[in-house]
Amino acid sequence: MSVVHAVPTDTYRPLDRSAPVFVAGRNGLVGSALWRLLTAEGFSSLLGPASAELDLRDRPAVFEWFARHQPHAVILAAARVGGIKANDTRPADFISDNLLIQVNVLDAALRNGVQRLLFLGSSCIYPKHAGMPIREEALLTGTLEPTNEAYAIAKIAGITQVRSVRRQHGLPWICAMPTNLYGPGDNFHPEHSHVLPSLIRRFHQARMERAPKVVNWGSGTPRREFLHTDDLARACLLLLEGYDSDSPINVGTGEDLTIRELSDMVASVVGYEGAIEWDTSQPDGTYRKVLDISRITALGWTPAIRLSDGIADTYAWYESASP
Ligand code: GDP
Repeated sequence: MSVVHAVPTDTYRPLDRSAPVFVAGRNGLVGSALWRLLTAEGFSSLLGPASAELDLRDRPAVFEWFARHQPHAVILAAARVGGIKANDTRPADFISDNLLIQVNVLDAALRNGVQRLLFLGSSCIYPKHAGMPIREEALLTGTLEPTNEAYAIAKIAGITQVRSVRRQHGLPWICAMPTNLYGPGDNFHPEHSHVLPSLIRRFHQARMERAPKVVNWGSGTPRREFLHTDDLARACLLLLEGYDSDSPINVGTGEDLTIRELSDMVASVVGYEGAIEWDTSQPDGTYRKVLDISRITALGWTPAIRLSDGIADTYAWYESASP
């Protein structure tokens, strides 16, 4: 394996717009936003096989694909993801699929000498009781939220692999930790999705059926931060071109709200006016996980999409995509 020395930090290193860039997870929530942005930015050789074409859990298939396509850069946005219930009830799937996807893609990228790689983690990798807002240094300083521990451990393993490649092989690979994401193309499954798409679906259905009430999960008191995937995509490109550090870097808005406040906002965008009840037999998850975003804002990135606008945009997509 060739050893390449990391370029110095604080150096802007533009990606070659005509070189092949692999967006792993291209049809997912994050991958589709990346695809839109990179296309608009003039990348002319984007690679994004659908999972039916290339199952990233299949190691020989992944190695063969890399050998054939020789991507210059990789954004690893492929993952098995889900909301609190999916994570809580199917932890074995979450740890196994995510470890397989990551190890295969990272190993194949290393074997083929991929110089620039961005691995996407999640804010749930941080300890349940981390100080708020959560700084990057909190990683591995405490125990995790149990409802998504399996997913978080897989993501932490990915970060450690990227850091290990940097240390052993000198490649300038990097990791970003996005907060809770939402946007067009999200998963709106009633049981398995995250809270924001779940609420859009529930309120939309209730409005259409003129239902007198809806029932949300948990107490509504936990706080969450939400970032639109178009904002994340801009952050990813900026980081790939201008960030080179061993430390993961947070990507969020730095602002959170209670699930109740979110619920009111979604109801207002969707035009639902009935009652809202809370089922406290459902898990709340971690109480709060707002990110400290000072490191990425110092690089010149700030989120541009206001939550209410982003919800409206996502709802418009949902309405156009639903039968
Ligand atoms: P988390 O950020 O990993 O906890 O994942 P979620 O996005 O699934 O849940 C965030 C919070 O929203 C939790 O406190 C849930 O109990 C609450 N919540 C309220 N209603 C819903 C719902 O319909 N679906 C989901 N997934 N969460 C909900």
